[in-house]
Amino acid sequence: MNRCLWCGREEVPRIRLIDIIGLTKVKAETLCRQCREQLNSLENQTTCRGCGRKWDGEDLCKDCLRWKKLYPNYDFQNEALYEYNELMKEWMEAYKFKGDYRLGKIFAEPLKSRIEEKKGKYWIVVPIPISEKSTFARGFNQVEGLLNFADIPYKEVLIHVGKGEKQSSKNRKQRMTSSQPFEIKPDKLIEINHQNVLLIDDVYTTGRTLFHAADCLFLNGANEIKTLTIAR
Ligand SMILES: [Zn+2]
Ligand SMILES: [Zn+2]
Repeated sequence: MNRCLWCGREEVPRIRLIDIIGLTKVKAETLCRQCREQLNSLENQTTCRGCGRKWDGEDLCKDCLRWKKLYPNYDFQNEALYEYNELMKEWMEAYKFKGDYRLGKIFAEPLKSRIEEKKGKYWIVVPIPISEKSTFARGFNQVEGLLNFADIPYKEVLIHVGKGEKQSSKNRKQRMTSSQPFEIKPDKLIEINHQNVLLIDDVYTTGRTLFHAADCLFLNGANEIKTLTIAR
């Protein structure tokens, strides 16, 4: 029996012939079928090349056109696993704000396989850090939690030195104009120089956080940067 990590429902795992003859490992699902159906995977959908949102307009959505003006030399192509819908919102609330750590396991498998496909051999994985204030309130960095469950090695090279007001408590304008909150840990500078970095965050909302992080890494010698988020 598999117990759904989200709703608690028990489900008999679906076993296919190919599993019985041992060609594949039986996938232990973290969500039941009903909960899985509430997720909207962005894989194989038409998305904005810049931020990864569902988008069937031009190459870049209008938010990304604005970012392009601010960061003309950065060829940003964020990829998100799922659309930020009702279920994702509730998950974020329970995992990140109420601090139910075990919920970080829900996306371990898709996250792991996407990261492994996305990063080449010489790329390092860097989670977006949170402020001291948030660490104190939550007890853990939600992005590191996701990477730990996914069993992905990562490097904590960035530190959050901002005041630590929650992005989610700000309006759009306040978010867009927020100042650079990140720095590189002085003893990690060497690890960034000429490196390719895959930045990981939980959700892409305005993009402000990821652009600040990428900017900080580029200024400190990073070579190429890709970004991946659970939701957009
Ligand atoms: Zn469920
Ligand atoms: Zn976009």
